[in-house]
Amino acid sequence: MNDLHTGLTADAIDLGYDEDGVFYQTTPAYGGHILAHIVILEERPQMATVRQKIFTPLEPDYSRSGKVITEKVAVERDEAYEVLSVEEKVVTGTPIGQAEVIVSGGRGVKDETELTSLRELAELLGGELASSRPLVDAGMLPHSKQIGQSGTTVKPKLIINAAISGSVQYQIGMRDSERIVSINKSSTAPIFDISHYGAVADFKTLVPAVIAEIKKSKG
Ligand SMILES: Cc1cc2nc3c(=O)[nH]c(=O)nc-3n(C[C@H](O)[C@H](O)[C@H](O)COP(=O)(O)OP(=O)(O)OC[C@H]3O[C@@H](n4cnc5c(N)ncnc54)[C@H](O)[C@@H]3O)c2cc1C
Repeated sequence: MNDLHTGLTADAIDLGYDEDGVFYQTTPAYGGHILAHIVILEERPQMATVRQKIFTPLEPDYSRSGKVITEKVAVERDEAYEVLSVEEKVVTGTPIGQAEVIVSGGRGVKDETELTSLRELAELLGGELASSRPLVDAGMLPHSKQIGQSGTTVKPKLIINAAISGSVQYQIGMRDSERIVSINKSSTAPIFDISHYGAVADFKTLVPAVIAEIKKSKG
């Protein structure tokens, strides 16, 4: 960047052109409390990195060619730090960022017993259990299961949201899912604005009923 004398927008969640044809980059700022639209009017080139799963990848075009330039970077050892141990991360199941089906629970899920029905639905559908931030803050699920701006961006074929209101920070992480189904007691919950199917219901009665139907159809 220094060599190019230009800026870089990191972790953009949207790229586009405004009505004047000016290229803009959208990125969360001030700890995610606002979304900043950044435009670079004078310097060229314009550079941005985008968050994983924000855009649908294009089909590979094998007629194109390019040159891979591998740079060698020397990182000097910092005497202020010492590696005491290296521990392998234990990952169970498919990471939610790669899951094709997700059942996600929100603050309306009060305890482990209530979470069990969502876990069972996820398993029956061959998918993964995930959540909005409150369940992670409450220690019910690890951070690797959190969808959203400070969690993981997901793009499954199907996502079922149970007891999730649909904050901006949550929607950023799942709004491009292929099919969005939401269950919420409140008909005015913002999650319904981006859902393909919605049920105004208590998930504690609806989810067990759906599980029973799936089991019946599987015989
Ligand atoms: C910088 C920053 C980063 C953030 N990052 C994230 C993030 O990555 N991911 C994230 O999720 N949040 C994030 N948040 C938090 C976010 O603002 C919301 O607070 C959070 O998403 C709310 O989660 P929720 O929808 O589960 O809870 P709530 O907003 O409390 O909604 C609960 C919903 O459940 C419904 N409900 C309750 N009981 C039932 C029931 N029995 N059956 C059906 N419906 C029921 C209610 O009607 C309500 O709509 C972030 C916030 C900040 C400031």
